Amino acid sequence: MYPKMTVYLNRIEDTARYVCELAAENGVRITGVVKSSDNYSNSYKAIAEAMKRGGVASLADSRMKTIERMRELGVEDHILLLRIPQMWELPKVVEFADASLQSDPGTLAALEEEAAAQEKTHGVILMTDLGDLREGIFDPDVFHETAVWIERELPHLHLLGIGTNLGCYGSIVPDVTNLSLLVERARAIEKSIGRKLEIVSGGGTSTLPMLLDRTLPEGINHLRVGEGILLGRDLVTIWKLPFDGLRMDTYVVEAQIVEIEEKPSYPIGRIFVDAFGNTPEYIDSGMRMKAIVAIGKRDIGSHDALFPIDETIKVLGGSSDHLILDITDCKVPMSVGDIVAFLPNYQALVNCIESSDVTILHHFD
Ligand SMILES: *Cc1c(COP(=O)(O)O)cnc(C)c1O
Repeated sequence: MYPKMTVYLNRIEDTARYVCELAAENGVRITGVVKSSDNYSNSYKAIAEAMKRGGVASLADSRMKTIERMRELGVEDHILLLRIPQMWELPKVVEFADASLQSDPGTLAALEEEAAAQEKTHGVILMTDLGDLREGIFDPDVFHETAVWIERELPHLHLLGIGTNLGCYGSIVPDVTNLSLLVERARAIEKSIGRKLEIVSGGGTSTLPMLLDRTLPEGINHLRVGEGILLGRDLVTIWKLPFDGLRMDTYVVEAQIVEIEEKPSYPIGRIFVDAFGNTPEYIDSGMRMKAIVAIGKRDIGSHDALFPIDETIKVLGGSSDHLILDITDCKVPMSVGDIVAFLPNYQALVNCIESSDVTILHHFD
């Protein structure tokens, strides 16, 4: 069945190993973020296991539903909940996750009660906001006091450490200035509580460049990495960094050709708006041989999120259900019914997983 997306688990394992080794050289441990796995198969477990073979220290996801599913599938590793939890899900947080990111005192108090009720100890990484303006306590004094309060007053919570999030809402680049501040805050908390914190968590994939150029401040010892392990395309093509161990072919998307026709390259009639209310630019390059494949924005988000493996094929555009290709320069003869293979970017990968129409296959070797 098509469209189809194949997940190459051994390639994910290879990238995980590369990222974990690079991290280890910098004194950093990696938690593998399994977000972007589908709900319908045993994807989470397969990806979690590939990441573990590659050397991640533990696992994480942003959704409680995913973590619950991983437990159902028999994943027994340490799992961290990434999204600061909703009040109603706290019983599940304590039951299924070993630790969570936190920033709200009210939630922490309720979490303490829940952990006490379940007779468990739950790990907490307290988040501080260093300027990206998503989650985390902004005021440094309030942050410090909250950490000390968890340590002294909440016996069923274990303050594992502190963390921050960058490059999300505010598009802020992790750098020596903001991450040194995180280390400073960790050292001050350690002084107040009289012990070392196990974790000082300096972000996710967007912090990886600091491992490459060895600028990560000493004291940052943990990163939560998803995209960098699952699909290195953006790091390689947008950031243009020499991550020679990252791969772009961990996922391959295939779609079937439903029409081949020679057509003009410039639309005929009065140009107004396309199916999404936009007016793209069209270039007149005469008659071209075009193929339509049965995959669209509903599956991949945007037509420029897929890259044909055969580079003589060009993606011209698309709509909800169709992707239009220029195959004029393609050396291989093509006909309706043939399959075209693409490498997705991260956006397309996430969309394919969410699309109920895309069949997902796991490839083990
Ligand atoms: C998703 C997420 C990550 C991982 O982000 P990547 O860019 O995929 O590495 C890390 N931390 C938090 C809080 C997240 O939600």
